[in-house]
Amino acid sequence: MNSIHKKTDVILIGGGIMSATLGTMLKELSPNLEIKLFEKLSKPAEESSNEWNNAGTGHSALCELNYTKEEADGSVNIDKAIQINEQFQLSKQFWTYLVNQGKLADPKSFIRPVPHMSFVYGKKNIEFLRKRCDALSNNPLFTGMTFTDDFETLKHWMPLMMEGRPTTEEIAATKIESGTDVNFGNLTRSLLSNLKDEGVELYYNHSVQNIRRNQDNTWQLKIYNSETKKTEYHNTKFVFIGAGGGSLPLLQKTGIKESTNIGGFPVSGLFMVCNNEDVIAKQEAKVYGKAKVGAPPMSVPHLDTRYIEGKRTLLFGPFAGFSPKFLKTGSNLDLIESVKPNNVLTMLSAGLKEMGLTKYLVEQVLLSDEKRLEELKEFIPTAKLEDWDIVIAGQRVQVIKDTEEGGKGTLQFGTELVTSEDGSISALLGASPGASTAVHVMLQLLEKSFPEQFPEWKQRIKQMIPSYEVQLSENPEVFDEINTSTSKALGLYK
Ligand SMILES: Cc1cc2nc3c(=O)[nH]c(=O)nc-3n(C[C@H](O)[C@H](O)[C@H](O)COP(=O)(O)OP(=O)(O)OC[C@H]3O[C@@H](n4cnc5c(N)ncnc54)[C@H](O)[C@@H]3O)c2cc1C
Repeated sequence: MNSIHKKTDVILIGGGIMSATLGTMLKELSPNLEIKLFEKLSKPAEESSNEWNNAGTGHSALCELNYTKEEADGSVNIDKAIQINEQFQLSKQFWTYLVNQGKLADPKSFIRPVPHMSFVYGKKNIEFLRKRCDALSNNPLFTGMTFTDDFETLKHWMPLMMEGRPTTEEIAATKIESGTDVNFGNLTRSLLSNLKDEGVELYYNHSVQNIRRNQDNTWQLKIYNSETKKTEYHNTKFVFIGAGGGSLPLLQKTGIKESTNIGGFPVSGLFMVCNNEDVIAKQEAKVYGKAKVGAPPMSVPHLDTRYIEGKRTLLFGPFAGFSPKFLKTGSNLDLIESVKPNNVLTMLSAGLKEMGLTKYLVEQVLLSDEKRLEELKEFIPTAKLEDWDIVIAGQRVQVIKDTEEGGKGTLQFGTELVTSEDGSISALLGASPGASTAVHVMLQLLEKSFPEQFPEWKQRIKQMIPSYEVQLSENPEVFDEINTSTSKALGLYK
């Protein structure tokens, strides 16, 4: 027998970092809200937010070269880098607030200081890196970033990466100590455990199958309980579709006009994980390189010191590949089933435009262990295959939409919030910069979806996130004060 449940204020779909962040903010702003969360798997944070499924970089553009573009006149545009860094500052402040409130017990369990470095080969790239460092290091958010092309300094900065390297190689790097490694899996689990204590109803093994609007403009969700094998119906005033790769198919079911002409392009990934303690001990940094000409930004493998399951480890990747699944636990039919009459032209246009990318990703899937080792050797010349195992990373579903600049079926690399006109339903699509910007994205959502309450909530938001509506990059003293307190509370390098 099907069961129909009474109406609630908020339903969150998905037990990843996005729902966990939104649920936490809503409970802080309005403790009496009735909130339910539905997750189709048996545990939280098992898809992209899991620590083994993403790279754990606290994205702040400290080392990721794709956020700084070289302009035609040779100058380096740092606008995007500043924007990404400002967004991560919001996350750090919200986590600081929760630590200070005793709601996140042990910051080390989810964030650690790890230097961020960029590493390039060849004269042209070295010149770009030098200019990038000059442009960024004058900005308060990037203070302390240094450049070197001196072999001895590089040996000191990255001993593992310099072993066995000829002194004649043209290489350079930048280093900044204020980088972080974030364990989004642990963070999600802690936030959800708090929410449970605060009365949020968490339902695992519950898969949302359909979403339809009720006559009074509230929403009804059809949900399959895989334990009882029964279908349940839950009604709510507001829905957040935070289902990661599963968000697009659910958004399409809502029938809202904002869901049309949007598609998804799935990108799979895998990491090489070091199993040799001596090798792991020699590296303490996240090191990002430059994408090869023609390669998409998500295909730049990096060498990352990580803290997972309480241990320091070393990952290389993710190697991007093609898979038709929208979730790691998804179906091979996901991509084809996402093609609808209202997005078929968008999808076909993207298919034609992105033939090169698809070919590239298929080739990447077919890479042999030896070929992957060759890429690793660009970072660690002495790397041996037996020291590295393979783990499958999460799926990223890049948004495809029609844009003014790119035309029909343009592939997007960002994170996008799609919200109905009345704000009562909102879905998060896309993968990058992803988890690091969860707080920024959820602030945007709150403003759009709770327009009546938002003016009242602002005061409280400023208590939790002191730099809300302040450009830190233009207010060095405010940044210094906030950075001192977040670094202290989270145990980070200032
Ligand atoms: C390889 C890779 C590397 C990355 N590296 C970084 C990085 O270095 N730094 C960074 O900040 N971000 C990174 N990201 C992005 C980041 O991981 C994601 O942006 C973030 O985890 C997304 O969180 P989410 O809550 O939206 O999705 P998820 O964590 O995927 O959670 C969605 C949940 O919804 C559930 N679900 C799906 N469909 C349904 C349904 N119908 N009913 C109920 N539940 C459902 C899923 O089971 C899942 O648990 C990376 C991602 C990948 C894949």
